[in-house]
Formats: sequence, structure tokens, C-alpha cells
Amino acid sequence: MPIYEYCCEACGSTFEKLVFAGDKEEITCPCCKSPKVKKQVSCVSFMGSAGVGKCASSAPSGFS
Ligand SMILES: [Zn+2]
Repeated sequence: MPIYEYCCEACGSTFEKLVFAGDKEEITCPCCKSPKVKKQVSCVSFMGSAGVGKCASSAPSGFS
């Protein structure tokens, strides 16, 4: 079963949630209950590729 990582746009916290295929349940932040959450792509599996966005920009610059 896939576990997706979500990032809350309201409070910035990240959390993981088990998601079933076809599940239409609304994902809400466990911290602030906000429905404004974004599914994250795993930073690890995309490490090294360009255009990752937030994941890439969160890495310390100059570290290569
Ligand atoms: Zn939140």
C-alpha cells in the first residue's frame, strides 16, 4: 500500500498518510486540520534530478 508524504500549506508541517486506490477521502493536516495539503514527491528518490522545486531548494546550497 502506498504511503504518501504530504505538506501542509497552512502550517508547513509534513506528515505521511496511507492512501488506498480510489480513496476520495479528504486529506487534512493532523496539526491544524487544514485541508490545504500538498502531496509531496519523495525527495530521496528524486535526489539528483533537476526541477524538483521545494525539495531541491531545501538542500543546503554549496554542498556538492
Ligand atoms: Zn497544518
